[in-house]
Amino acid sequence: MEERWVYMNGRYVKKEEATVSIFDHGFLYGDGIFEGIRVYDGNVFRLRDHLVRLYESAHSIMLDIPLDIDEMEQAVVEAVRKNELRDAYIRLVVSRGKGDLGLDPSKCSNPQIIIIVDQVRLFPQETYERGLKIITVPTRRNVPDALNPKIKSLNYLNNILVKIEANQAGVGEALMLNADGYVAEGSGDNIFLVKKGIVYTPPGYVGALDGITRQAIIDLCQRHNYTVKEEPFTRHDVYVADEVFLTGTAAEVIAVVNVDGRTIADGVPGPVTRHLLQEFRKLVTVDGIQAFPKKGETAKE
Ligand code: PMP
Repeated sequence: MEERWVYMNGRYVKKEEATVSIFDHGFLYGDGIFEGIRVYDGNVFRLRDHLVRLYESAHSIMLDIPLDIDEMEQAVVEAVRKNELRDAYIRLVVSRGKGDLGLDPSKCSNPQIIIIVDQVRLFPQETYERGLKIITVPTRRNVPDALNPKIKSLNYLNNILVKIEANQAGVGEALMLNADGYVAEGSGDNIFLVKKGIVYTPPGYVGALDGITRQAIIDLCQRHNYTVKEEPFTRHDVYVADEVFLTGTAAEVIAVVNVDGRTIADGVPGPVTRHLLQEFRKLVTVDGIQAFPKKGETAKE
């Protein structure tokens, strides 16, 4: 097996030896933030957008990241190079760091920056061809005035409860509604539907993560002349949609063919979903930051 190096506060540590303190508030309380980023043929897809979201999350929870955004960008790119992976999943974590057993974050003076670069766990190709069966779960999305879902925090318990409910129902993903009953998002992805040629996704105020893939799909819709509307919708709208799909760094663009036992249209991935996935897979190799020099170039240090 190839050696994997984890970036930990400016040093590289072997994957097997990379550990954090049991007093880290990320471990004790989920006090920290993270990003999941993907590398496609050496291109770190929309890295800057991921970092902007990370720094906004940090600002919101009053966590001072000891690197500025340019230094962080360089660290991520270097970690990819160091691991020599042209196709990879990056997990970037910034925790509040070591404190005492109390909640008080002012006791944590040393935020921990961790960058893990590893092989991507792909959904089997079959899942993209057949589409997913999903359910809506009773667990609601966190309300924005408690823990705002736009903060990509280490506190994923809301999402994990949803995943448990999905597992118990024997499906691969599940939808959360917000407190008002509008569809918010999946446990780890954003949702879109297509009705009469128009593409819909819930607006920010419904309460969901501002997904990087979600924005890429909105951009692709605009480029390919699909009308895209950010409007709240209900479960009923999902059931009667012509197409439904989920977006995320891990999921990419994945069709949903059954929701709560209702077959979506004729039960197969629809043409708009398939077209957007095809265009997305072209975009991901060019839109971002190239970690490896192209042939004939040398790496910028
Ligand atoms: N919603 C949630 C709750 C997520 O965890 C993710 C994955 N990061 C997404 C949506 C999709 O976001 P992105 O496209 O940035 O991966």
